[in-house]
Amino acid sequence: MTEESNSPMTDTDSTTTGPLVPEDITADSPFTLPGFFDALAEDRLVAARCTECDQHMLPPRPACYGCGSRAVTIEEQPRSGEVISYTSVNRPPSAFAHLAPITVAVVELDSSARLTGRVETPLEEVSIGDRVELQVRDPETVGIDPEFDLSYEEDWPIHVFELM
Ligand SMILES: [Zn+2]
Repeated sequence: MTEESNSPMTDTDSTTTGPLVPEDITADSPFTLPGFFDALAEDRLVAARCTECDQHMLPPRPACYGCGSRAVTIEEQPRSGEVISYTSVNRPPSAFAHLAPITVAVVELDSSARLTGRVETPLEEVSIGDRVELQVRDPETVGIDPEFDLSYEEDWPIHVFELM
């Protein structure tokens, strides 16, 4: 049996491989939501992948919710994927109220990681199997005042899917 040596993660590692210990999870780590959104603001969509069972976690988590392993690694994700489920939300969170009703879909990216997000298309024009591409926007460009609407999330970008 061979054993790979895993070097401990530091803040400067761009790719991180577990097993993780709690000290690895700093506030700006991509394993936290702020770290995930920081990466997204820099145009990088990252997921965690379990190296034991191959489960993707998006946003990243420091432990696998498939098998419990902490042997997880951060991987950049493709932007394109396919709608596997969708619905209409008539009363979205207040920041998005002016856009209601909004279409929300579960999208399976081409890596097989799944991400839920708003689709910038009326419900009637969306179908299961539609190809979509992730876009990352500043809140102001979708009519959201970050200071008023988003409080602690004011630095976070808005993600949305567009039909391809
Ligand atoms: Zn796993």
